[in-house]
Amino acid sequence: MIVITSNQTPQDQVNDIIAVIEKEGLQVHLSRGADHTVIGLVGGVTPKLAEHLRQMKGVENVVKITKSYKLASRDFHPEDTVIDIRGVKIGGENLVIMGGPCAVESPEQIDEIARLVKASGGQVLRGGAFKPRTGPYSFQGVGVEGLTMMAEAGKRHGLLTITEVMTPEYVDICAEHADILQVGTRNMQNFDLLRKLGTCGRPVLLKRGFSATYDELLNAAEYILAGGNRDVMLCERGIRTFETYTRNTLDLSAIPVLQNLSHLPVISDPSHGTGRRELVAPMAKASVAAGANGLIIEMHTDPDNSMTGDGVQSLFPEQFDSLLRDLEKLAPLVGRKFSPSLEAAPVI
Ligand code: PEP
Ligand code: MN
Repeated sequence: MIVITSNQTPQDQVNDIIAVIEKEGLQVHLSRGADHTVIGLVGGVTPKLAEHLRQMKGVENVVKITKSYKLASRDFHPEDTVIDIRGVKIGGENLVIMGGPCAVESPEQIDEIARLVKASGGQVLRGGAFKPRTGPYSFQGVGVEGLTMMAEAGKRHGLLTITEVMTPEYVDICAEHADILQVGTRNMQNFDLLRKLGTCGRPVLLKRGFSATYDELLNAAEYILAGGNRDVMLCERGIRTFETYTRNTLDLSAIPVLQNLSHLPVISDPSHGTGRRELVAPMAKASVAAGANGLIIEMHTDPDNSMTGDGVQSLFPEQFDSLLRDLEKLAPLVGRKFSPSLEAAPVI
């Protein structure tokens, strides 16, 4: 349920409303917009409490949220969520670029790619230490050592880092080494993992399951939010359709739809979304034009010899750079701020 007050409502009246809610043992989520302040509360709202709130001074309206997800919904939190990680802002008008290999392979490989991502203006280094592979005999990632390699490369080059976590047991160690934790498409509904991420203390990028509806994605996000972690990004990475030419079909509609339904930042992954290098730049630009808050892109210095099959969708460093130069021009035309600041993410 949400309680809407005008921004003219004096603070002591807002405080009175909050006090009444908290007295019932309910948690308050405050969202201040340009015209209204929305006080959100989840669960346990009796008709008596709703009526009492409706009568209170300063209350304009009391509305029940009928969607199955609450905290993820825009009704609950009308303002865009902006996640601030050491000065890098994700969400709202900012465009964030995450780039790097599918998998961390060696200290030299991740360090060189980090240098190139930074030089092109990316803010976040991506790379998997644990890889979810379709077959059990394929390369599964270098494991915990990869986390250290990546953290060092990120620090050396002033980049934030993002890495995939596949099981609840590995959440703590991944959170120790990476700035953002990624949930892969195959784990979108791994509810034990989502619950654990609710208390991990790190922002989470939640990828859409390749057969998941928007509603299912938002309910998966709700698991993380309900655990107390408010820093969740949604990621469109392509869905399975009848088309076989592309690896997946990047659902561009997902970007504006999710932004209408939710306040969470929406990141597009044109690499897994297409599976073909030549389609990555056009779909990256289309994603930004459709309103994406960021991109996650695979880039490799030697894609033909990469250790996962994702070399075919990885950009060469020159292509990554050229894409970012185009995005610098495109971003302001579609209301996005792309500031490839070399000051971002200071070494800590
Ligand atoms: C990846 O990012 O390398 C990855 C495995 O992504 P997805 O879960 O979208 O397939
Ligand atoms: Mn990959």
